[in-house]
Amino acid sequence: MMISALLTAGAGSTNAHQLITPDGASNKSARKFEYNDERFADLQMLRYRVDGFDQLSLKQKTFIYYLQEAALYGRDILFDQNGKYNLRIRKMMEDLYINYKGDRKSQNFKAFEEYLKRMWFSNGIHHHYGSEKFVPQFSRKWFQDVAVCSDEIAEVIFNPAIMQKRVNLADGEDLVKTSASNYYENVSQAEAEKFYAKQKAEGNPLRPVMYGMNSRLVKNENGEIIEKKWTANGMYGTAIRKIVENLKLARPFAEDEQQQKVIDLLISYYETGNLDTFDQYSIAWVENTEPLIDFINGFIECYGDPLGLKCSWESLVNFKDLEATKRTETLSANAQWFEDNSPVAPEFKKEKVKGITAKVIKAAILAGDLYPSTAIGINLPNSDWVRAEHGSKSVTIGNLTDAYNKAAKGNGMMQEFAYGPEEIKLLEKYGDLTDDLHTDLHECLGHGSGKLLEGVDGDSLKAYGSTIEEARADLFALYYLADPKLVELGLMPDAEAYKANYYGQMQNGLLTQIVRINLGNNIEEAHMRNRALIARWAYEHGKKDNVIELEKRDGKTYVKINDYQKLRGLFGELLAEVQRIKSTGDFKGAQTLVETYGVKIDPELHKEILDRYAKLNIAPYKGFINPVYTAKRDAKGNITNVKISYTEGYAEQMLRYSKDYSTLPLINE
Ligand code: ZN
Repeated sequence: MMISALLTAGAGSTNAHQLITPDGASNKSARKFEYNDERFADLQMLRYRVDGFDQLSLKQKTFIYYLQEAALYGRDILFDQNGKYNLRIRKMMEDLYINYKGDRKSQNFKAFEEYLKRMWFSNGIHHHYGSEKFVPQFSRKWFQDVAVCSDEIAEVIFNPAIMQKRVNLADGEDLVKTSASNYYENVSQAEAEKFYAKQKAEGNPLRPVMYGMNSRLVKNENGEIIEKKWTANGMYGTAIRKIVENLKLARPFAEDEQQQKVIDLLISYYETGNLDTFDQYSIAWVENTEPLIDFINGFIECYGDPLGLKCSWESLVNFKDLEATKRTETLSANAQWFEDNSPVAPEFKKEKVKGITAKVIKAAILAGDLYPSTAIGINLPNSDWVRAEHGSKSVTIGNLTDAYNKAAKGNGMMQEFAYGPEEIKLLEKYGDLTDDLHTDLHECLGHGSGKLLEGVDGDSLKAYGSTIEEARADLFALYYLADPKLVELGLMPDAEAYKANYYGQMQNGLLTQIVRINLGNNIEEAHMRNRALIARWAYEHGKKDNVIELEKRDGKTYVKINDYQKLRGLFGELLAEVQRIKSTGDFKGAQTLVETYGVKIDPELHKEILDRYAKLNIAPYKGFINPVYTAKRDAKGNITNVKISYTEGYAEQMLRYSKDYSTLPLINE
């Protein structure tokens, strides 16, 4: 599971142009580190610092070097998973971008360039967040004149009726047929569900593997439904073999024997596609808590599949931030206290909260579904039984959160939307700190808390499962942010600080997060649905006590919280209900809650918020440019040092990745 950054982490106004010398050449050596970089469409590119890398030992640097190579070699996989035409479109567009001899300042070319940059960002032709297909602002005629583009591909790019959404979660439709992601071919939702129900029925009921997570489900010419597995010798084999090659190079530099075992199991799983091996790998990984350096590399999260089965490829290489980790270790050490004292019904609580390890990490490289748009916290593995028996690893990614916060200073968002000076003061004083703590609580304790009743299938909530799970973790965090225990543990400075996070969350859920959505559209993404659900439920249920007000001044709506303690009580009530839904597999309950509070947007309010936001001229989405690692080698080829640099531009990085790390044929079947 992952947690994404809140919208309140906006971006400032500096941009790449300030980094260019007067003669127009980018002066790399003189370039000072800037958190904000290029801006286009609804996107702002940021940079993150990997402080502490230079102080690592040569062995550790070498380990990271090969792991980041293994990360970058998987890039093509995600492009193909996100849509079966994506690699062809990317190649064609990059060729045009590099070789175009016409007027590069013409409207058509500029619009094309923006489209390409958005496509790189999304790893495909659909919006990374809203999942709707991009609408090209350049003409089809111009494009087909200058690019080598077949009518078939032009239809995919230009015809709005084809492949409309990457992931469709609209209630009542065939979600498989109407989603453009490339996880199913020629099968209906009913056929896919039946296929996996059968696998599940035949498998181990106590320790089920994650059925379908590493394959494409296809109906062949004989009408048989088969899985095409993503393995070293199967689908995506050319990419997976490069990943394995670099994992093997990394292995001798691993930090301990257990970590070598982790790598061996991962390689074995990549070679065989065996899902039991994947569970063995997950267990070895979750138990490997000592090393400073850690990584994930594989098919991990299932947000891209409307049925929540197929996992998208991603990688993250990181090392521990020792100072900040003290914070999360304190939470983990007290995990049982939090579980015992939560407002959840006793039968849904864990008698013994197991193996929660929590740490703050620094990302060293982001790849696949974590690049350029990324999570700021991760809790893995996703297998319910592995989590129950062996625990999970929770991380918050400190250097990314820090970059968001630094980039957001002074963007005007707070001044425009906060109710008054008192709220602004609160947010300025405690906003960053309580956001960090919220993330820690969500990841370290929230996802790991509670249990399913015996015999309840972990997938019973179907398309509502992700939203309910995120709501559960967020509510756990919200409930405890206001608890005196946090002050007692030395994590909160005083009994007032939590109000900053309550205010930020309510303002975001009731008002500001919808700036990410086009007028007329519904909320689709699980984290956003969760935030709307919590804020609106609390607003509605607090009405009789006037807990939260939506006040209108000069045509502008503001959130006013009148009673923070009562609001905490409401969060507790909803937490108990959401946990009941999860623990009992109450699909109807999940559906009612999500559809009532998490999906629809009042069009009048939506328009007002969009207008106010537009005036601030802030990009609603952020993503990161990776640092570049360069290995120095001796005559024998051994690495003698690894240098890190932060000067590569966005397009430059994307084109280099396409040149050096393209591993797949353009058509994969
Ligand atoms: Zn989460």
